[in-house]
Amino acid sequence: MSAFLIDGEWIEPGDRSTIPVEDPATGDVIAEIAQCTAEDVDHAVTAALKAHTDRRWSGLPPIERTRILSRIADLIEENLEELAVLETRDNGKPIERSRADTAFSAKDFRHFAGAPGRLTGTVVPIDGGAHHVYTVLEPVGVAALILPWNFPIMTAAHKLAPALAAGCTVVVKPAEQTPMTMLRLAELCEEAGLPKGVLNVVTGDGRTGAALVEHPGVAKVSFTGSTEVGRTVMRNAAATTKRLTLELGGKSPNIIFEDADLEAAVATAMRASFGHSGQMCTAGSRILVQRSILDKATEMLINATKRVPVGNGLDGGISVGPLVSEEQRQIVLSYIDQGVKDGATVATGGDKPDRSGYFVSPTLFTGVTNDMIIAREEIFGPVAGVIAFEDEDEAIAIANDTSFGLAAGVWTKDLSRAHRMAAKLQAGTVWVNTYNIFDPALSFGGVGDSGLGRDLGDEALHSYCERKGVVIAL
Ligand code: NAD
Repeated sequence: MSAFLIDGEWIEPGDRSTIPVEDPATGDVIAEIAQCTAEDVDHAVTAALKAHTDRRWSGLPPIERTRILSRIADLIEENLEELAVLETRDNGKPIERSRADTAFSAKDFRHFAGAPGRLTGTVVPIDGGAHHVYTVLEPVGVAALILPWNFPIMTAAHKLAPALAAGCTVVVKPAEQTPMTMLRLAELCEEAGLPKGVLNVVTGDGRTGAALVEHPGVAKVSFTGSTEVGRTVMRNAAATTKRLTLELGGKSPNIIFEDADLEAAVATAMRASFGHSGQMCTAGSRILVQRSILDKATEMLINATKRVPVGNGLDGGISVGPLVSEEQRQIVLSYIDQGVKDGATVATGGDKPDRSGYFVSPTLFTGVTNDMIIAREEIFGPVAGVIAFEDEDEAIAIANDTSFGLAAGVWTKDLSRAHRMAAKLQAGTVWVNTYNIFDPALSFGGVGDSGLGRDLGDEALHSYCERKGVVIAL
């Protein structure tokens, strides 16, 4: 049984219903978490609200908050291997990926540790000296942080570090499939000296998340998850005029021009499409290839896809581990069927490997057109499709013909083309001759159905703040 955290107290599930947490590589149950009730959520929000109003966190000198946030970064690094193994057992992702995600989480805290002393206001010269006018940045209040299962520890850190740096108190709800590293991170935050009640963690499924979104004591919701649930969160948050950050799905184009370094483009396409078994919001699942190099590039992509290593994430050297659940595997397999029905060709993969665990073989479709369902909907599995284009204009037209706008990749040696493409692509991030490069200082998020607001960077920090104006008659 795994306890949840309210006001510094770890609470056992007791007579609440519980949710089994599985190791997706084996199907073994590794923990049982409580399905926290609306009453639990109310206790958690009340504790966070009390910690906010008595300023036990925001009232500390900024340098002291910096010290505690830095200590959290230290503790994540000191416990990196334990956290990474827990993440892989919980989620199935390759152990190298878990190590990198955990190291990035420490970087998040280290970056935002410097923020409390930088959250300064301004003096505003509004008239000829009749008033002294200044602005201050204040924490927005209680922030509810709702996490997805695909990047459990990293999305936790992406949200928690700036929220705490801004002086907010928080209630976190990890995904029901992958709560383990967030619970361990909460222990490390306690050990680092975060005052009790500042960080509360409730476990449970969407009902627990919905109770948080509806709670009038919550001032801000930062949600990462599917577009469909994101829309529900937006609707429910409107009833109490909450501030919102939504990091949602994507269907990102990865565009390879004839002048690209093809070896590098193909190698990176493997990482962009199949890394973390394709369970990435930024997955470059639409591989756009210029028609003049279509045959050669397709052959290279097929050969590379066949070589993508599949296995248990803990084995090391693996790109495609199991999907997070049998349910997710069935969804991915039904998308593969749909692709075939719509006329695309499975060039390699398309099946389940003969092994236990929730695996799907790395699958590459050829002959995909952008109107097919496999080119329009987020599959969230190791499935990518090759779409041909003639020239820059057609590449832009196909790339932008989507309701999403999270990320895009461009492969070209032509510097002017790179800039033209970057300017015209509708996406929160454009990577040129690379893919999936992130940094805590660089804000990340999407346009259109990929969400609103940003994680990371100063945008994230300021999204947990309100700017207050003070006007004093002289
Ligand atoms: P999901 O939308 O099913 O669930 C996300 C979280 O919301 C979970 O904690 C879930 O319990 C909770 N939830 C469910 N119903 C809710 C409700 N009515 N109110 C409040 N909370 C509710 O998403 P998922 O399947 O866990 O994650 C995969 C999705 O996340 C993909 O679409 C992926 O693209 C997206 N994602 C986006 C980013 C990004 O930065 N844009 C990053 C990672 C994942």
